[in-house]
Amino acid sequence: MDLKEQGQHGKYCHSCGKSISKQAEICPYCGVRVGAPPSSYFEEHRTWIIVLLLCLFVGPLGIHRFFVGKRGTGILMLLTLGGFGIWVIIDLILIVTGNFTDANGMIIY
Ligand SMILES: [Zn+2]
Repeated sequence: MDLKEQGQHGKYCHSCGKSISKQAEICPYCGVRVGAPPSSYFEEHRTWIIVLLLCLFVGPLGIHRFFVGKRGTGILMLLTLGGFGIWVIIDLILIVTGNFTDANGMIIY
């Protein structure tokens, strides 16, 4: 799979696990409907949970910002060690309150 092809695949089929088009409502591999909302709390908030844990444990390294595609501020955060801790706390509050956004401005929650 080359990078261009990867870019067209937006999500994974919850039934067979194959990567499929973001717009697909029915998995072309197994025929299962994939437009349905995620079944579990963890699935629904997976990104949020990962970002929260990353910020909590390795916040000063800016990993949670790299994870959501905010590379510029991620590097800045790494260089300043999370704005000497203050920036990490601000990010943590934003994440917990559901106001943290990814590189596309989408709320992570
Ligand atoms: Zn499938």
